[in-house]
Amino acid sequence: MSPIKRVHNFNAGPSILPLPVLEKAQAELLDYAGTGMSVMEMSHRSKEFEAIIQTAEADLRELMGIPAHYKVMFLQGGASLQFAMVPMNLRPEGASADYVVTGSWSRTAMKEAAKLGAVRTAFNGEGENYTRLPAKAELSFDPKAAYVHFCHNETIHGVEFKSEPEVPEGVPLVCDMSSDFLSQPVDVFKYGLIYAGAQKNAGPAGVTIVIIREDLLSRVPGNLPALLNYQVMAESGSLHNTPPCFAIYMVGLVLKWLKDLGGLNAMYEINREKAEMIYKAIDGSGGYYRGHAAPEARSIMNIPFRMPSEELEDLFVKEAKKADLVGLKGHRSVGGLRASIYNALPVESARALVEFMADFQQKHG
Ligand code: PMP
Repeated sequence: MSPIKRVHNFNAGPSILPLPVLEKAQAELLDYAGTGMSVMEMSHRSKEFEAIIQTAEADLRELMGIPAHYKVMFLQGGASLQFAMVPMNLRPEGASADYVVTGSWSRTAMKEAAKLGAVRTAFNGEGENYTRLPAKAELSFDPKAAYVHFCHNETIHGVEFKSEPEVPEGVPLVCDMSSDFLSQPVDVFKYGLIYAGAQKNAGPAGVTIVIIREDLLSRVPGNLPALLNYQVMAESGSLHNTPPCFAIYMVGLVLKWLKDLGGLNAMYEINREKAEMIYKAIDGSGGYYRGHAAPEARSIMNIPFRMPSEELEDLFVKEAKKADLVGLKGHRSVGGLRASIYNALPVESARALVEFMADFQQKHG
């Protein structure tokens, strides 16, 4: 058998998964735990799958320190469906919700919510092309808001909150954590609801994790279709209908991998090491590489940066690919390059990128 090729994978999502997770899935693919079938082939009501989903939830609770009065759900429709489900479930008729807009994703979340009812912009970074986060004094919230929504890490613009916005007493904080979920410890009790599409740090595409404080379920209108109803989905343990079984199984394997690694504090250390390495390369390049985000807002997961010309940026992407560094093209709305350095990206891959950046500058700078 020829050796398997693995590249330095900087894809923004779906993105790199831990190699031990893929190997475990491969080993169990044809015969899961002596059942003689794959997880893809078994009933979602079987005791084996029940154990898979329950263990995944228990491990997530342990890793994140999720308090008992929060429910965990494994849903479908991506984080994008949460843009709609959050207002449908948590914003009562006639009420308004506050949105902190720090990049493309929080803007899209606000636009979706605006289709269904009233929203208010608590901050809008668009005028500065989403290069920074609001200072505390720039945020003023409606004390009657149904909730405050923000995006913890803007995947495209590479700005990441270092602490939660301070919201008025009694207003639940809702967070899109898709692209830095499980990358660092989180004070879950500060949140009313956290959601995250799995396909960055938690597993493959197809499952979205929602963590909700139980009391908020009393707001859910009774006339919502079952699959859009948090109460129905929470009470059924995400088993109202057929869940994305294989994706949930993969999330379970990722959570075990994280636990073996030492949990979210250990993961955070590694993530910071990788990010610091790359930001140092950017800052030390004499302006040849320029980061998009303001230094104090820099993300440890997504690093968008520019170069002196688009031609050089195109050449960088092409040459990098030849060196097995893939997924570095920036999002079209920011341009340039973007290195997504999620949990599963090894430190060696960050190092390989830094070395490639120095070589490229030497050759073409
Ligand atoms: N929010 C953030 C922060 C994202 O990065 C993404 C996807 N890149 C989304 C929402 C949308 O996720 P999905 O494609 O799972 O709907």
